[in-house]
Amino acid sequence: MKTKIVFSEKCLNYGGWHIEGPQRVKMAHEFLEEQKYEFLEPTPAAEEDVLRVHDADYVWKLKKGLVEDPDTPAYENIYEYARLSAGGALLAAEVNGFSLMRPPGHHAGHGGAALGVSTRGFCYVNNVAVAVKALGKAALILDVDGHHGNGSQEIFLGDERVVYVSLHRFPHYPGTGGFSEGNCLNFPLPADCGERRYLEALDEALGMVNVGRFEVVAVSAGFDTHLGDLASLGLTENSYREVGRRIGLLRKPTFFVLEGGYMGEQNGRDIDQLLKGYEEKAVV
Ligand SMILES: [Zn+2]
Repeated sequence: MKTKIVFSEKCLNYGGWHIEGPQRVKMAHEFLEEQKYEFLEPTPAAEEDVLRVHDADYVWKLKKGLVEDPDTPAYENIYEYARLSAGGALLAAEVNGFSLMRPPGHHAGHGGAALGVSTRGFCYVNNVAVAVKALGKAALILDVDGHHGNGSQEIFLGDERVVYVSLHRFPHYPGTGGFSEGNCLNFPLPADCGERRYLEALDEALGMVNVGRFEVVAVSAGFDTHLGDLASLGLTENSYREVGRRIGLLRKPTFFVLEGGYMGEQNGRDIDQLLKGYEEKAVV
């Protein structure tokens, strides 16, 4: 079994100057192509799919280019790029694949900026949330991006079918996720805490959830926890392999959606290790 990767070159066509720019995905794609992964081309999510997650007013403003903050520009046609990225998550959910698309999504809440945070942290539409809502299944969302997914927490807090687990650097952007609340289990970790501490927290987190009740595992797969990246927790390629193994051991249909990770080819290497670890342990 080799996990299929969902990718469209269209996601490289905007935001060349921004840290959340095309290079981070382009270089990852090139690396993964060399590793002989199979790629699938997504189609845009339907507006109906987006509206299961976001307020109609916010979607209207996104379309019109009326919503902008210092992190998250109102690029021309950004709604179309965001719909395609959400479509990537939908296809990944369908084929148990990995969506290698941008823009990312986990900071986007119902109406844009989530939980009182002032920006959307490079996110427009919450891709993983669009996929989980479309599936309508009991889902465990595991967010391993180095930042807390305040958008995902806002969207799923109190949702009885979903448990949201996040491991993230704290204190750090966006400032939320310092404690757990209801069905949202947060594991704040100090900067550069290192692999051992990280994996202990992950094991603790996974030990707290009743995995048997979930029909699907959705992974918000961010790689900015890598040593030296934006939300570094001092992780290495080996750490992602270990994370992948733990996800595989959950023995559930699983899909992955790219969030952050800003070191280009390193993202590709980390994705490859995550998927190799996952495939080692997952039941085919
Ligand atoms: Zn991040």
